[in-house]
Amino acid sequence: MARILITSALPYINGIKHLGNLVGSQLPSDAYARYMRLRGHEVMFICATDEHGTPAELAAAKADKPVAEFCADMWQVQKDIADGFRLSFDYFGRSSSERNREITQHLAAALGHAGLIEEVSEKQVYSHADGRYLPDRYIEGTCPNCGSENARGDQCENCTKQLDPTDLINPRSAISGSTDLEIRETKHLYLKQSVMRDQLDAWIDRQVGWPVLTTSIAKKWLHDGDGLRDRGITRDLDWGVPVQFDGAPWSGMEGKVFYVWFDAPIEYISATAEWADANGQTDAAWESWWRTDKGADNVHYVQFMGKDNVPFHTLSFPATLMGSGEPWKLVDFIKSYNWLTYEGGKFSTSAGRGIFMNQALEIMPSDYWRWWLLSNAPESSDSDFTWESFQGGVNKDLADVLGNFVSRVTKFCRSKFGEIVPEGGKYGEAETAVTAEIAKRLTAYQTHMEAIELRKATVELRAIWVAGNEYLQTAAPWSVYKQDPEAAAATIRFALNLIRLYGVLSAPFIPDASARILAAMGAADAAWPDDLDVALNAMPVGQAFEVPEVLFAKISDERRVELEAQFAGG
Ligand SMILES: [Zn+2]
Repeated sequence: MARILITSALPYINGIKHLGNLVGSQLPSDAYARYMRLRGHEVMFICATDEHGTPAELAAAKADKPVAEFCADMWQVQKDIADGFRLSFDYFGRSSSERNREITQHLAAALGHAGLIEEVSEKQVYSHADGRYLPDRYIEGTCPNCGSENARGDQCENCTKQLDPTDLINPRSAISGSTDLEIRETKHLYLKQSVMRDQLDAWIDRQVGWPVLTTSIAKKWLHDGDGLRDRGITRDLDWGVPVQFDGAPWSGMEGKVFYVWFDAPIEYISATAEWADANGQTDAAWESWWRTDKGADNVHYVQFMGKDNVPFHTLSFPATLMGSGEPWKLVDFIKSYNWLTYEGGKFSTSAGRGIFMNQALEIMPSDYWRWWLLSNAPESSDSDFTWESFQGGVNKDLADVLGNFVSRVTKFCRSKFGEIVPEGGKYGEAETAVTAEIAKRLTAYQTHMEAIELRKATVELRAIWVAGNEYLQTAAPWSVYKQDPEAAAATIRFALNLIRLYGVLSAPFIPDASARILAAMGAADAAWPDDLDVALNAMPVGQAFEVPEVLFAKISDERRVELEAQFAGG
């Protein structure tokens, strides 16, 4: 048994995420966590909301709520949606927690004592009307390059030129529109990542089998241009982890908070501490996952994220942990995802284009989304969501292949033999052949799950369902029954055992259907089939079962057209 720590990238607090966000970290990490638990490993699966920063403050102001209250409310919204998608986090924390404040301040102090933090004076734009410093992207004005009147302080979207706020002509606050701006001198802390470049580079080189998508992004940041740059880790904001605290190895940082990108990944650790607190456990319980001097040396740590998060997870967060000089557990494998597009374009919150997580659950059961998203996960390149493809995945894979098999077998058995596993007849070549086919597919399925190639794993799982259908089609118990009821009984007995097996194997991807299948089959457990022959005899003669209600309802063409129109946006 291994100990596996799994973290999903933290969803930002300011709004409900779309399906692309879901498939970029939370959903695949859940399938992996479920699989690893089924294989008997000890799993700690952690996620949380990322709550600090300017967008949270602005979203709270827009909702006319204090930011702490806004975040608490949105955490509950995101938690309920995560539950709706059956995301099986051991703990879903909050980066605004007391634990994250403690651990973030602790790590910052350790970095300060190690000489890895530098105070830098810089010029920043202060808005009198807003009563706050403005982050670069919240300053707008005329682009000095192309004349666009809506250039932002970090970039002009019209001509793509990178800008500094002081480059803008007639700058104004993007929040209030005020032009009453002043450039002020302010002090910030920088993490001296540049001095850790060789250490980080060597650490990346030691990682075996990481996806090219992950290492190429890290290498680019390490080596392009002047190489890895120091990073500002503080901001002039109210909402965040205070920079000035008892024992801080710097002074004069009153009123500043750590930059959200500094404290957010630390929340992976803090949320595990929150888990311990919530479950009446001591610090030793969470430290055994995170401190290599306290048991984490035998932990295998896997992170899931969209590709935009890779630089922070391959460089900044490891720099924080390594630089502290303390024995923190570093990630062993980073699984990163490309983008999911919507009908050939981008998801857009403002245009109402694409499907958001709350809407998805209102339209269809979570299993439908889980199956389509994971069997089309953007693992090696971007994927495109289309309603036609979604309809195909639900109707063909789930309804026609798996659902139909379960329905035909259980209904036929009920009508001819009753709702118990029938006796009579013997297994022969057909059963041996399909068992061999499934054994081969199962090995491949397991290999892909271990490698976190989930899309490939779904191909094998589907092939395992198909093998049962083909077996049933060939054995044709409905026609054999008339001359040889015992032979038909043997076929049905084997097929009922296949259904139970499908219930077990499908659990990482479609947990609700899986639970219904197992309950209908009266399965005492959902143990992984380490011995396939044993697993295919788990339902003995005489065992009662029930015919389940329709497992998957098909999506009609009319409904599909309706949904296409509903989510087209514009
Ligand atoms: Zn421009």
